[in-house]
Amino acid sequence: MEILHNISLADYTTLKIGGIVRNFYIVRNLVELKQVSSLDHARVLGSGSNILVNDGKLDFDIIKLDGDFKKNTIKNGKISVGAGASLAKVLQETAHAGLSGLEIFAGIPGTVGGAVFGEISTKYGKISDYIVAVNVIDGIIVEVEFCLKKAEPQKIKEAIKKNLIEKVASQPYGKNTAGCVFRNKQGVSSGMLIDQAGLKGRQIGKVKISCKHANFFIADHGASFKDFLALVEDVKIRLNLETEIQIWK
Ligand SMILES: Cc1cc2nc3c(=O)[nH]c(=O)nc-3n(C[C@H](O)[C@H](O)[C@H](O)COP(=O)(O)OP(=O)(O)OC[C@H]3O[C@@H](n4cnc5c(N)ncnc54)[C@H](O)[C@@H]3O)c2cc1C
Repeated sequence: MEILHNISLADYTTLKIGGIVRNFYIVRNLVELKQVSSLDHARVLGSGSNILVNDGKLDFDIIKLDGDFKKNTIKNGKISVGAGASLAKVLQETAHAGLSGLEIFAGIPGTVGGAVFGEISTKYGKISDYIVAVNVIDGIIVEVEFCLKKAEPQKIKEAIKKNLIEKVASQPYGKNTAGCVFRNKQGVSSGMLIDQAGLKGRQIGKVKISCKHANFFIADHGASFKDFLALVEDVKIRLNLETEIQIWK
């Protein structure tokens, strides 16, 4: 196992916000994982694309899945994937193997573990629709088995392209965001509610509600945890919403 010390989580989150952890455990196999998985002060980090992390000195450690946890095996239309694998890479591999289903998640950053933990979804479906088994150790997702349909690789690759174009057109791509801040409310889009409340473009410090997609908050360079949280709380109270991003204090 590799252990890094005094690591800034700002370098490991898409918001580029986050303080310093004392220990950052990079585990490459089950033996290494079992040495740290039951530590009650350790949290598992994927690609940091759905979390808001406090600034300053943090009182928890990080577990990052690497090595074996990034591998996959494909057999009889089923693919077993390590939870540390990048979802985007899995989409490329399943497309290449002629396995269709996951292409609806094209453009969603993150790891397979983070995707399953957060039950990622798009207007075309949710990830649990494709899952047949999840292997969990001490609350950490280590492996996921998907059941997919056979299709022409070229058709799947075209669907990936189309879905990517749709995402870039509707979300603030290339900015520091963490995906949707709030869950949809009884099937109603939280982005639409924020927009209807006239809150697009609202800003606290260096954090702003996107004018392209109101459920995305953009953190400009140097944005703080405090400002991001203040904007989240402001919208949450006004519209009685529930947060979707994970907040690590
Ligand atoms: C530009 C952009 C677009 C996005 N679009 C979408 C979208 O269309 N739909 C959607 O649903 N989401 C979207 N997201 C949100 C985000 O990408 C997903 O939630 C993603 O799956 C999070 O994965 P991650 O590896 O980055 O998780 P992280 O952000 O690292 O972690 C999120 C949570 O998952 C937990 N976690 C991570 N790995 C594991 C594991 N192995 N076992 C147990 N818990 C784990 C963490 O502890 C944490 O609590 C978007 C985000 C961005 C930045």
